[in-house]
Amino acid sequence: MRRDDADGNSPLSQARCEIEKTPLEGECQRPGEVRYKGMLLVCRPHAALLQLEDRAQAVLGSVFRMDEWLQENGSSEADEENLGRIRHEREGALAALRHIRVQIRSARKEVLQ
Ligand SMILES: [Zn+2]
Repeated sequence: MRRDDADGNSPLSQARCEIEKTPLEGECQRPGEVRYKGMLLVCRPHAALLQLEDRAQAVLGSVFRMDEWLQENGSSEADEENLGRIRHEREGALAALRHIRVQIRSARKEVLQ
């Protein structure tokens, strides 16, 4: 499947995982196979890990926004229905976050292999 013959003069031109360009990790010796966010070329295990961390960030961001909303609106009884819905959504987001953290832990192990 690999196309080493594409410009065959240098076998070292096989692109390597570029994970060291993120603040996340050091060097990685695996070949770069996946384009992450259209920028970094990373190996599959690192791509999986980066995606999970992005998702965790996004969910965490939404929990923060919900917390802010609850702080501003939590004491007003005007909006019981919204209040209940946001609290419920927040529970769901936290559960999702716990699940993503478990996945991140196993993705990290994968990366170290
Ligand atoms: Zn890598």
